[in-house]
Amino acid sequence: MTALLDALRAAVGQRQVLTEGDLSAWELDWRKRHRGRALAVVRPASTAEVAGVVKACAAHGAAIVPQGGNTGLVGGSVPDTSGTQVLLHLGRMNAVRSIDAANLTMTVDAGCVLQVVQERAAAQGLLFPLSLAAEGSCTIGGNLATNAGGTQVLRYGNARELCLGLEVVTAAGEVWDGLGGLRKDNTGYDLRDLFIGSEGTLGVITAATLKLFPQPAAVMTALAAVASMDHAVQLLQRAQSRLAAGLTGFEVMGDFALSLVRKHFPQLPQPLPPSPWMVLLEQSDAEGEAHARGLFESLLETALEDGLITDAAIAESLEQSHAMWHLRESIPLAQAEEGLNVKHDISLPVSRIPAFVSATDAALEAAFPGVRLVDFGHLGDGNLHYNVQASPGTAAADFLREHEKAVNGIVYDAVVAHGGSISAEHGIGLLKREELVARKSPVAIGLMRAIKRALDPDNRFNPGRVL
Ligand code: FAD
Repeated sequence: MTALLDALRAAVGQRQVLTEGDLSAWELDWRKRHRGRALAVVRPASTAEVAGVVKACAAHGAAIVPQGGNTGLVGGSVPDTSGTQVLLHLGRMNAVRSIDAANLTMTVDAGCVLQVVQERAAAQGLLFPLSLAAEGSCTIGGNLATNAGGTQVLRYGNARELCLGLEVVTAAGEVWDGLGGLRKDNTGYDLRDLFIGSEGTLGVITAATLKLFPQPAAVMTALAAVASMDHAVQLLQRAQSRLAAGLTGFEVMGDFALSLVRKHFPQLPQPLPPSPWMVLLEQSDAEGEAHARGLFESLLETALEDGLITDAAIAESLEQSHAMWHLRESIPLAQAEEGLNVKHDISLPVSRIPAFVSATDAALEAAFPGVRLVDFGHLGDGNLHYNVQASPGTAAADFLREHEKAVNGIVYDAVVAHGGSISAEHGIGLLKREELVARKSPVAIGLMRAIKRALDPDNRFNPGRVL
């Protein structure tokens, strides 16, 4: 151990190898469900230093857990409890390397915080559209390692679609420079796509070339109250046909989810009275605000006349728009305040969501009378956060200990029966490792294991995660 620590200090400098004091910022995950113990927290400042760390760990047989903002929700970003794993924190690698406005690309270090990337693009009049509630602390490296989704996937795709190139340190400590701003490059296997979504199990992402877009002339937000999930899906179809690519966000929120926001953040304005479901629509318009408002008004007025929605409000100002988004983004925080629940980040064909929700709600209620469902998500891309909270009066920790497995069984069986996926955007990590093996085809699992063996033969990167 001493020899490894000396080699790590030689790679990144004495002060960037932390072994003492309170390391919980790196060792405890965001949900506070996984607390590990690292041999050391190592903080490189450059790609060459990352390569040095990987070589040192390879020479001494140590495992490496890469970490960005530590906002991951599946327990993949923290070390295990052995005290032998090296936690590689990329936070000091936070430079924007270059912006090519004519090519609509930006090359950044992996430790750049997402919000900083958005702001640097905006300063050039450009848009980096990846957007999620953790954007103030999650990093581009973590976003790509988890293939993050967020609120704009409907129009711009997830992190994979927003990345044109990567720089990666391999398990041998070599640097693969796959950066570059090409939108077409058919020169063999797509290595970039292997590393994206690999959750730190195949290599360390040290930089990325990202796609930028022109800023829309206007962005407008509206809330619509709907009586059922079926109405929400019909509204989505209508909004897609009326607004086409202008529809950049379509979020759904169940009333119990919003009731938690009302309870824990009573200061937040609620533009509409409670309704079984609330939809948040976002429109981006190349022509300007008046045009966007006209489209929204016509969409929502006819939806009201046709009984698709029961009420609606269009944000009159940027402040009101932020307030609407704030409601949506406060749901995970309100849930955390309310206590533990069984989380499911699932995706389904949009057309199957109403049937999935009614069948699964009924199955859970039959098995656990009084159970409460914190339903919300990115309905526009078929992604639901379908979370199960104990009935009132039942201690959350007891409910989880006794019933988490059975709840997961009911939910994931229904997901599979409706043609869905057990992980839409958060990944597998530790949390869904067993479900993955149980529910993905043996052929797919075999191919994934072969890729892991080929790229990381000594199981150096994030062992025990994903597979
Ligand atoms: P970390 O948590 O540090 O790491 C996540 C995984 O990536 C780990 O397995 C880690 O080993 C690996 N990793 C990190 N950096 C690297 C690297 N440089 N190279 C290789 N592997 C690496 N996710 C969504 O997709 N959509 C959402 O809408 C969304 N909303 C969220 C809201 C909140 C409030 C929170 C707390 C989380 C949310 N997430 C969401 C989950 C999380 O924010 C994202 O997955 C995010 O992309 C993780 O980035 P990070 O830098 O925090 O990564």
